[in-house]
Amino acid sequence: MTKDNITITDQAYTSELAESIEIGITDFVDKFIATHAKKIEKFMISKDLWQSLGDFGLLGVQAPEVYGGLNQSYSLQAKAIEQISQHSPAMGLSYLAHSHLCMHPIIQHGSPAQKDFWLPQLIKGKTIGAIAISEPNAGSDALAMKTTAELKKNHYYLNGQKIWITNGPDAGVAVVYANTNPKQKYRGITAFIVDLTKPGVTKSEPIEKLGMRGSKTGSLYFNNVKLSQDDVLGSVDEGLSILMDGLNIERVMLSAGPLGIQKSCLKTVLEYTAQREQFGKCLNQFQLTQAKIADMYTSIESSQAMLTEAFKRINENTLTNAYAASVYLHCSRAGVATSMEAIQLLGGNGYTEDYPVEMLMRDAKLFDIGGGTNEIRQMIIAKEIIKDFKNKL
Ligand SMILES: Cc1cc2nc3c(=O)[nH]c(=O)nc-3n(C[C@H](O)[C@H](O)[C@H](O)COP(=O)(O)OP(=O)(O)OC[C@H]3O[C@@H](n4cnc5c(N)ncnc54)[C@H](O)[C@@H]3O)c2cc1C
Repeated sequence: MTKDNITITDQAYTSELAESIEIGITDFVDKFIATHAKKIEKFMISKDLWQSLGDFGLLGVQAPEVYGGLNQSYSLQAKAIEQISQHSPAMGLSYLAHSHLCMHPIIQHGSPAQKDFWLPQLIKGKTIGAIAISEPNAGSDALAMKTTAELKKNHYYLNGQKIWITNGPDAGVAVVYANTNPKQKYRGITAFIVDLTKPGVTKSEPIEKLGMRGSKTGSLYFNNVKLSQDDVLGSVDEGLSILMDGLNIERVMLSAGPLGIQKSCLKTVLEYTAQREQFGKCLNQFQLTQAKIADMYTSIESSQAMLTEAFKRINENTLTNAYAASVYLHCSRAGVATSMEAIQLLGGNGYTEDYPVEMLMRDAKLFDIGGGTNEIRQMIIAKEIIKDFKNKL
């Protein structure tokens, strides 16, 4: 593999190196994330904690070794997201935004100079990365974005606002989608790698949210930000294909968050119901309780099975829009349902901050919305299977 010829496959997952990295991730998460989950929720992710992700190598799981990455598979990347999300879904979300949503398009579409400049600092944790698509009036209809990048002489001038940007308040770089050819509407969208320390960039304070409180979310404002032609990611007016190219895999990656949440809920429930007694019996002796535990287990197994199948399809290059959207639809709903049942099984305690399940429920809800809402996923699934059905007639 050369720097410019990068193909990421899932083959490495079965190797001994991948297994030892996975064990390392578990140790790291137990040591650094599990013990800090409450602090992250209250005070957001600290610089030191982020740096420890970089020092450990976790920020470059999929990045090529030539830039300091571990060159591992999509499934190992998802495993890291899942493991982090078991303790702190907010940390999992920020980690995902940095190491996948921002870095993956740079790895796949960046020029050699862009990769040389950005990847090492992103992998080491010296710079925090973000992805900026959504705007105040372009959410589900993301392609209606109004942010423009106008070419004058040799430079682009970026103007507009991006909203809901994970890591936005702390990010040093973002992959930003803007319209370079508004007459062409979405066919005129271009992706840029924007250095957020440039003049003309301002950032909002973190937005206060229902969940994912440890993960900073904010707006980015661009006021005549001068970009060079070298800041274009891929080709001019071809942002749409970069955006669409990554969406299916992004949805699969996002699914690892609610899977981690569900596993954490079941663990808490099993521990709690084994010791809490009512009517002279442990809660786990009641059939109604057992039914909930059985449903939680089934939900985890079905989410896991869909994710595993998605990685198989990624390797075979057969992952369809419908399947990727359905994996995410299933996992996000399962995350919300399982965390609600976990609260129920803990009774009053489930409703308090003494147990993690209330945070997990609030965090789980994000996955019904972020990365394309459940309704948008349903639209994608229905459109594709109806089209396939028609084609077979
Ligand atoms: C915590 C958080 C982090 C985020 N991180 C990022 C990020 O890093 N980068 C980024 O670019 N964006 C990010 N987002 C934005 C996210 O992707 C959007 O919130 C999402 O796409 C929905 O857009 P919206 O909020 O504008 O809702 P809207 O599009 O206004 O939707 C509101 C409701 O209407 C429904 N709806 C819309 N259109 C239709 C339709 N045609 N048919 C039926 N129902 C419809 C939706 O499903 C939803 O229920 C983040 C959001 C949150 C909350």
